[in-house]
Amino acid sequence: MSRLVAVFFISMVFCFSELRSQTLNETKDITEAYRKATRSSSGKPGERYWQNSAVYDISITVLPPSRTISGSETITYQNNSPDTLKSIVIKLILNEHKAGAAGFGGVDKDYLTTGIEIEKFLIDGKKSRWMKNMGKGTWQELPLAKPLLPGANVKMEIDWNYPISLKAGREGMLDQTTFFLAYFYPRVAVYDDYAGWDKSEFNGGPEFYSDFNDYNLKISVPANYVVWATGVLKNPEQVLQTGVIDRLKLAAESDSTISIASLEDLKGQKITKPSKINTWHFEASNVPDVAAGLSDHYIWDASSAVVDSTTGRRAEMHAAYSDTASAYREMVQDGRYALNWFSHHLPGVPYPYPKMTAFEGNADMEYPMMINDTSIEGPNGRRVTNHEIAHSWFPFYMGTNETRYAFMDEGWASTLELLIGRSYAEREVIHDLYKLKRVKPWIESARPGGEVPIITPSNELTAGYRFNAYNKPSLAYLALIDLVGENLFKKCLLEYMGRWHGKHPMPWDFFYTFNDVSGRSLNWFWNSWFFSRNYIDLSVRKVEKSDDGYAVYVRNTGGFAVPFDVVISYEDGTIESVHQTPAIWEQNGEEVIVNLGSRKSIREIKLDGDLFMDANVNDNIWMDK
Ligand SMILES: [Zn+2]
Repeated sequence: MSRLVAVFFISMVFCFSELRSQTLNETKDITEAYRKATRSSSGKPGERYWQNSAVYDISITVLPPSRTISGSETITYQNNSPDTLKSIVIKLILNEHKAGAAGFGGVDKDYLTTGIEIEKFLIDGKKSRWMKNMGKGTWQELPLAKPLLPGANVKMEIDWNYPISLKAGREGMLDQTTFFLAYFYPRVAVYDDYAGWDKSEFNGGPEFYSDFNDYNLKISVPANYVVWATGVLKNPEQVLQTGVIDRLKLAAESDSTISIASLEDLKGQKITKPSKINTWHFEASNVPDVAAGLSDHYIWDASSAVVDSTTGRRAEMHAAYSDTASAYREMVQDGRYALNWFSHHLPGVPYPYPKMTAFEGNADMEYPMMINDTSIEGPNGRRVTNHEIAHSWFPFYMGTNETRYAFMDEGWASTLELLIGRSYAEREVIHDLYKLKRVKPWIESARPGGEVPIITPSNELTAGYRFNAYNKPSLAYLALIDLVGENLFKKCLLEYMGRWHGKHPMPWDFFYTFNDVSGRSLNWFWNSWFFSRNYIDLSVRKVEKSDDGYAVYVRNTGGFAVPFDVVISYEDGTIESVHQTPAIWEQNGEEVIVNLGSRKSIREIKLDGDLFMDANVNDNIWMDK
C-alpha cells in the first residue's frame, strides 16, 4: 500500500511539472541563432550578432492631379553577414494593389491599381535580369551576377513608376490635390541571422520588417504644394518663403502652437517658393522607412516639446490637416504631451527623432517621424494619436519583425495608450475606452480551444490577427507589470530596449532579458500568456467555511495568469477588496485557494478582473445561503 501511495505521489509531481513548464518552446531558427552565437539565451545579442543596412538616395516626382508617381533611386546595400549572397530580394509593397494580389481583407475597386512598373534596374552599373513580368507579387528575388561577399556592398539603380490608389488606406489619394505616400520605393528585404531573406508576402494586414537605413529623399512637386516627410528638411530656403522659415524656427523652441500656414496664407501663395516645380529634400539616418504627405490646401501648425530633460533637447511636433478637421486643431498640443510623456515615463526613453508630423488621413497608421490619423474628436481621437506616436519606440526604436511578431509592437502601443491616458484624463474615460476597444471585442469571442497562441506568426493569421497583435499581448504586458511591480518592470524593459535598440529582437530576446534582469524565471508566465490557447475565465468553484475563516477555491478555466480582486461583502454592510497578482498562478495554473482569515460573516464573495474581463462572469460570485 505504501508503495502504491508513493507511485501515485510521484506521478502527481510529474504531471505538475509538466503543467508548469519552466522552459519555453523555441523555434528552430532561434535555437540555431544561439548555436551560431548571433543571439544568446540570456536575452542579449550574441557576440556574433550582425545586421545589414543600406543607403537610399531617392528622388520622386509627384504632379497632382496626375496619379502617376515616378521615382529614381540608388540603393547601396551593405552585407554585414558572414554569408555570401548569391541573390538579392527586392520588395515591391505597392503591388499589393494589383488585381489578384494576396489580400488580408476584401478591397474596394478603387483600391486596385496596376502596381509598380520597373523601368530600369542596374546592379553595379550593369543591366540586371529584371524582366517586365517579374514582381507580380510584393517581392522578387534577383540573381546577382557577382556574389555579394561578407563585408562588401552592392549598388542598385532603379527607375520606377506607379499610379497612386484612388482609395487611400495606409497610403493613397486623399483628395485630388492631397496625397499620402508610403511604401512607394523598391527596397531590399531584410536578410537576417535567423531566417535569411524575408520572403513574406505583404497582404495589407500584418505590417513590416525593415532594416535601419540612411535616406536622402527628394520630392518634386508643383510650386504651391507643401511636403511633409520623414526626416529633416535640408533646403527650407529653396522651397519656403522667408516668413515661413522664421515661424518654423520659432516653433522649434516654443511650447505654443504656431500657425505655419493658414488656409488664407496658402490661398495667397505666401508659403512656398513660386518656382514651377519645388524639390523638397529630406534627410533621415538610422530609420526603418520613410513616408511623405503633400497637399496644396492642408493647414500647417507646429510647436515642440522637451523630449530629454537632462539635455533639454526638444522635438518638433507638426500637424497637417484640412480646414474641416476640427480635431486636428488640438493635434500639436496632444502630440507634444505624448512625445514628452513617453520620453520621460514609459517607456522612459527620449523620443529618438528630431520631429514628428501628424498628417490627416484615414489610416491610423505609424511611419518613422509621421502618423497618418483620422480626425476624431474627443478622448478616442487622442487615444489613437497616442497609440500611433507610441509606435516610435515599438517598433521603430526597436526594429522588431512586425510581419511575424506583431505583438512586439501593437501590444506595447495598446498598453501605452492606456498608461498615458491615466496621466491626463479622468481615469474612468480611458479605462472604459480600453475595455471597449482592447478587451471586449476579443473576450466576447473567446472560446475554449478557439484561441491561437500569441507566438503564432502574425502573417499566418486571419481573423485572430488583431486579437493576437493588440488585445491579448496588451493585457499580458499589464499582467506583467502587476506581477513584477512597476519599478522592476521598468528596469527590465529599459534593459531590453538598451540591448536591442536599432537591432532586430525576437520574442525570446524579450522573454529571456526579463528573466535575466529580474533574476527569476518567468517562463511559466510567458508560457501562460504567449504560448498557450488560453483566454480569461475565472470562477468560484466552492467556498469552505471553518473556524479560521473562509477558503475560496478559484478555478482558472480560461488559463491566462491574470491578476484579480476578491471583493468581499460582509453581513454588516462593509466591503473589502483583496488583490491577487498573477503570481498566484505560478505553482498551479488551474486552481488556487484564497484564504480569507476574517472573523466577520461574509454575505457575498465576487471575483473581479477589472480590465481583465471574464468570458463568463456568472460563475464569479459566491453567496452565503
Ligand atoms: Zn498600432
